[in-house]
Amino acid sequence: MNEPKHPSDIAREALKYLATHHLAPTPANYQACYNEIANLPNLPPFPEWQLRELLDVLAARNEAQEDALGKLSAAISRHSWQGFKEALGAFVLAGETGIRATVAANGVNALPGDFSSKFAYFIECVLPALGEEDSRIVEVAGEVRQMLSAPLTDVAPVQAALASLTRQAVFAAEEQAEIKNSLLKLLHLIIENIGELSTDDSWLKGQIDGLLASVAPPLTLRHLDEMERRLRDVMEKQGRAKSRAVEAQQEMRQMLAEFIESLGAMNQSSVDFEGRIETSAREIAQANTIEDLKPLLGDVISATQAMAQETAQSREKLKTLQDKVVVTEAELTHLHQELDSASALARHDPLTDALNRKGLEEAMEREISSMRRKETPLSISLLDIDNFKKLNDSFGHDAGDRALVHLADVTRRCMRPSDTLARYGGEEFVVLMPDTLLEDGIEAMARLQRELTKAIYMAGSEKILITFSAGVAQVAPEESGTDAIRRADQAMYLAKRAGKNRVMGG
Ligand code: GH3
Ligand code: MG
Ligand code: MG
Repeated sequence: MNEPKHPSDIAREALKYLATHHLAPTPANYQACYNEIANLPNLPPFPEWQLRELLDVLAARNEAQEDALGKLSAAISRHSWQGFKEALGAFVLAGETGIRATVAANGVNALPGDFSSKFAYFIECVLPALGEEDSRIVEVAGEVRQMLSAPLTDVAPVQAALASLTRQAVFAAEEQAEIKNSLLKLLHLIIENIGELSTDDSWLKGQIDGLLASVAPPLTLRHLDEMERRLRDVMEKQGRAKSRAVEAQQEMRQMLAEFIESLGAMNQSSVDFEGRIETSAREIAQANTIEDLKPLLGDVISATQAMAQETAQSREKLKTLQDKVVVTEAELTHLHQELDSASALARHDPLTDALNRKGLEEAMEREISSMRRKETPLSISLLDIDNFKKLNDSFGHDAGDRALVHLADVTRRCMRPSDTLARYGGEEFVVLMPDTLLEDGIEAMARLQRELTKAIYMAGSEKILITFSAGVAQVAPEESGTDAIRRADQAMYLAKRAGKNRVMGG
């Protein structure tokens, strides 16, 4: 009987064997040589982790399979190939039995349980969007949901119920779309009507035009937001104007009352005066001596003086009242002007119809708060036309103006409807791009540059190529609009320095 060899000797010999037999030094070859020298059976190692991986993807569909999975895991831990084979056999068998049981209970096609519950949940979520006017759809949806929530549902009746639900849903969706369109039309009519009722009010006219533009399809949440904001604006400003007008009316009424009172007093004093003069005249006619006349004349003089004094007082009072009326009138005019300047027209640059600085401020405030609320990106671009002074000098100021209009038109055509164009200064524009990352903003501005080279601008018979330099900045979560514009401006400046007609990110 040989002494068992020491493992380190076996290892050394195994390596030597590999070398002398020119075998590749793979782990498998080494293991085989080792086993040979150690007199061990040459079995491959137990593939534990591979089997565990397999175990991880096996899912039990019934209790018997669950049990088999436990046995599989135990066999792997014991490195028992036999145990593994047996447990795997049990797992497969349990699966087949489960399927047979399902088929026996429900016919050929069965729905997996989680699919049914997810589908039932989907129907539950979608149903409110189809409105509550039609009771049939609610009924059919209820039936389908009930079928789906029963365990191991058969497909055939569900299919029939689903077909019926789909039909109802199509009708309901069409109806909802029609309701939406009719509501929009109604809204249009109402707004137009309000506009026509007060054509003389330019402030209201501006607001109405804005409202009409914002209810034009396609109707988006952004449009509706804008509409709500405008309506609130109209209501608030109208409310203010109305209460001030009511106040002014009351003031006028009070002044009128005072005026009538003063007239009455004037009238009364002249009646008194007449009475006193008549009495004096009668007494004067009866007087025989100068001595008798003296006091009578005194009476006449003092009555006349009193009358003159009262008349002066009344005139003074009337003058004050008149001044007050003028002041109130001026106040009302001022109020009107204030409303006019708050008009939608006052938010736009009249030449290019882009937003002006005030309009930009408001739009920026809105976009930044939407960016923070929805946690979506917002990019801002500032663009400045290249060599605009030269264009003005060569072709005249009017041609320059038309070039600005041309640029604004091309920009509006090529940007997304949700983007906003504003005239920031003479030949500088700002574009607000919601839902846009910095790189996409840069790409959008580069696209605008390409469009601008395609859309030739004609000054008379002269073709002119308009180019611009732009800087783009993505607004940081806590950054103000002014700071973001400043960054875009710096990037624009770098674009000018780098040779113009290019876009840079800030
Ligand atoms: P750069 O490429 O460096 O931007 O050169 P530029 O000539 O465009 O820039 P600069 O700021 O020196 O000149 C801008 C000119 O734009 C000056 C002004 O006369 C002209 N401008 C500003 N507003 C208007 C406008 O409303 N209409 C016209 N026609 N020209 C304007
Ligand atoms: Mg400039
Ligand atoms: Mg310029």
